[in-house]
Amino acid sequence: MDQGRRHVRRKHLVKTENLGSSQSDIEKAVSILRRGGLVAIPTETVYGLAADATNEEAVSKIFKAKGRPAHNPLIIHVKNIKMAQQYVQWNEAAEILTMKFWPGPLTIVLPSTKNSQVAKTACANLPSVAVRMPGHPVALEILRQFNRPVAAPSANLSGKISSTSIDHVLKNLNQKIDAIVDAGNSTVGVESTIVAFTPLPTILRTGFITPEAVSNALGAKIANYDNEGPVIAPGQLRSHYAPNAKLRLDAIDWRQGEKKLGFGDVECDINLSKGKSLSEAAQNLFNFLHVLDSFNPRTISVSPIPNEGIGLAINDRLKRASIQE
Ligand code: AMP
Ligand code: MG
Repeated sequence: MDQGRRHVRRKHLVKTENLGSSQSDIEKAVSILRRGGLVAIPTETVYGLAADATNEEAVSKIFKAKGRPAHNPLIIHVKNIKMAQQYVQWNEAAEILTMKFWPGPLTIVLPSTKNSQVAKTACANLPSVAVRMPGHPVALEILRQFNRPVAAPSANLSGKISSTSIDHVLKNLNQKIDAIVDAGNSTVGVESTIVAFTPLPTILRTGFITPEAVSNALGAKIANYDNEGPVIAPGQLRSHYAPNAKLRLDAIDWRQGEKKLGFGDVECDINLSKGKSLSEAAQNLFNFLHVLDSFNPRTISVSPIPNEGIGLAINDRLKRASIQE
């Protein structure tokens, strides 16, 4: 590489500040957001890469740092229902779902309000906005102090394994973002459930909150989420969450040379949940994929996971992670 090119490349690197979750560190994180910077923040689902959702330039930095396609819209994080109502046209179903599940791992997609200040880039120029009030106390404190909506996709390179700890964030984004707020491991471990109203309530992405829970809350049928069907949400990439290794799913035998990700009472390299708890498996999923991938195996084989409840979200992530494009 010649001198000139090396110089250009170095100019894009920034020092990533490692922050904790003390009051003064949270204030620092908020001041970075105010000046249009990028901060990785803890949420209960996975770590998010946050920027001021009302600042086009700040939002475009998220897409650049992650290498995320511009057609993949971002979830807008809010401090409460009232803040969400400034950006989306509320309806009765939204009221019911948010009263029951917020703060928490549920995102709802609604038409944007006429005077919504959310950056067009964040919504991939769609007439709708996806909003969520996270349950993590540090995320909430940042949102309260910032007092503005924050766009925050998962803090990883686009298409790669999501981050549930700051080690994962650093592996992907060190020197590409201004700061990381460390608050330990994410407890839910998979991304939020996304519900859209088209106009029937439809699950666009499975998550910790199951389709049954959404349907029970609404007292209504929800449109069938069909893993095999066409892509109904923009940016729902077929290949996603991918380790470098190939994934072999539903493995009931183990083959030589593979790294073995188990579930239940099986011999393996690492077990998502010996006691077959799907929430424990979700919490461990991305971390264990990071761990096994770090051995650079050709293949990671994975035990079958029951396709029910939170297992729907786990299998969705595993399936996308197994597709290499
Ligand atoms: P994440 O990558 O976790 O930030 O989740 C973003 C996903 O939320 C996108 O891939 C879309 O499927 C969905 N989403 C976000 N904003 C919208 C929107 N305005 N309309 C429809 N879906 C959206
Ligand atoms: Mg993501």
